[in-house]
Amino acid sequence: MQNLIAINSLSHSGSTVLSMVLAGHNQLISLGEIFQVLREKPEKWLDDPDALCSCGATADKCNIWGPALKKIAATPALAITKNKYDNLNEKYQIVLETFNEVVGNDKTAIDTSKGFRHLKLIAEDKNIDSNIVFLMRDARAYATSQTRIARSQNRKGLRKLKQLTFFQLIKWYFGNKQRINYISDQKINAHHTSYEDLCFHSEATVKDICQFLDLDYQEQMIRLTDTNHHILFGNPMRLNKKKQMSLSYDSRWLANNDWNWPFAYLPKIKHFNKKHIYKQT
Ligand SMILES: [Zn+2]
Repeated sequence: MQNLIAINSLSHSGSTVLSMVLAGHNQLISLGEIFQVLREKPEKWLDDPDALCSCGATADKCNIWGPALKKIAATPALAITKNKYDNLNEKYQIVLETFNEVVGNDKTAIDTSKGFRHLKLIAEDKNIDSNIVFLMRDARAYATSQTRIARSQNRKGLRKLKQLTFFQLIKWYFGNKQRINYISDQKINAHHTSYEDLCFHSEATVKDICQFLDLDYQEQMIRLTDTNHHILFGNPMRLNKKKQMSLSYDSRWLANNDWNWPFAYLPKIKHFNKKHIYKQT
C-alpha cells in the first residue's frame, strides 16, 4: 500500500502553490500533476531535451521521473495503444514505488492532478492509501481568470461561451459541487480548504491541513524556502525561482468588474462561495 497526498481542485485554483507549501514539510515531496505525465507515452518525456523537471534536470535525468518513466517504457503491457486512460493505475503504482525506492519509505508524494476523473481514480485505487485535500478558489477569481484565458484564445462556436463570466461561474459551481458530493457520498476522508484561506490565514490553514495529514506543522512551510519538488507537468511557476518564494495572493480579479452582475444574479453560487471559501475569516 502506497501513501499519497492528492490535492484536487478545478484548474487555476492555487494547487501548485498549495503543493509547494506542503512540500516544504521535510517528509513531503511534490510530483505535480502525475496523471498528465502518465497520459503521454514515456518516450515523449524521456526523449525531449526541453521536458524539464522542476528539480532542474530533464525528465530523463531526474532521479524520480527518469527511472519511473524508464520502467513504464520497459513494460510493453503498459504501452498506450488507443486510449490515454489505459492502465493509468498500473503506471501510477510504478511511479509511487519508484518514488519510495529513491527517497525512502518515510517520504510521501504529493499529486496535484486536477479533474474529477483523477479524483475518482485515486480514491478508488485499492493500492493507494490516499489523503485527499480538496482545494477551492473564490468563484469570482476563478471566473475572471478563466474568461481572460478564453478571450486570449481564438475560440469559435459554442466554445465562445467560455469567454462569459456567467458561464464560468456556473462551471465553477457544478465542478466543485460534483467533487464535494462525490467525497461525501463515497464517505471519503478529505480535507476541504481554499486558496483564499491559504493566502490570508496561512498559518492557521496550513496547521489544519497538517493536523488532517497527521504531520507536525513546520514553520518553514509558509515561507516556501525549503520546498522539495519534482514537477514535470504543472504551472510554469514551478520553474520561476523568484515567484516561488512567497505566498502572495493573485488579486487580479479585484480590478475587474465583469463578475459583478452575474454574481448578483446567482445568489446560490454567491452563498456557496461564501460558505466554502472563507472558513477562517
Ligand atoms: Zn526532478
